Amino acid sequence: MPYELPSLPYDYNALEPTIDEQTMRIHHGKHHQAYVDNLNKAIEGTEFDGHPIEALLGALLDTVPEDKQAAVRNNGGGHANHSLFWQIMKPGGGGEPSGDLAAAINDLWGDADKLKTAMNDNGVKRFGSGWTWLVWDGTGLALYSTANQDSPLMQDDVPLLGIDVWEHAYYLNYQNRRPDYLSAWWSVVNWDEVGKRFDEARAK
Ligand code: MN
Repeated sequence: MPYELPSLPYDYNALEPTIDEQTMRIHHGKHHQAYVDNLNKAIEGTEFDGHPIEALLGALLDTVPEDKQAAVRNNGGGHANHSLFWQIMKPGGGGEPSGDLAAAINDLWGDADKLKTAMNDNGVKRFGSGWTWLVWDGTGLALYSTANQDSPLMQDDVPLLGIDVWEHAYYLNYQNRRPDYLSAWWSVVNWDEVGKRFDEARAK
């Protein structure tokens, strides 16, 4: 079963003005589609075909033959990262986390604003392309950034919230102003989805 591009859970223009329609169209329809296509091309006809993406990027990645490993890492990571990214945004998002997630954030950082500042700081400092993450590391919440399309799944963490800091995610609207994009991004965050992922990760 080849991997498939998931449809967006909202219209391409639904995240405006924070993220413009053209950026969303290219990002989802061209960039994410290319990760899916190139991942399928890399593993077509191999034993790695048909595994859930979490397994492919987790336990299985080290067993992928060397000549295919970079393609699986980059395109599989791109597929997993973007599939999450579309879900953890929503029109009319923003606000504050609630429930157990809010309690866990407050325990570690004091409040959600400090978490946002720390995540944005990791995103600004990520040189070149990558992602800034909030993850469940098996025992608690943690923050870090990754390069390229590397996924927290590759180090056995569960990604809860990731912000894409590749230029393709923001350049049409924000040009070189990555910090402005990161500040604005929180007005489309879908905290309910992040909280759901937190509850599922802890229950494992
Ligand atoms: Mn992207």
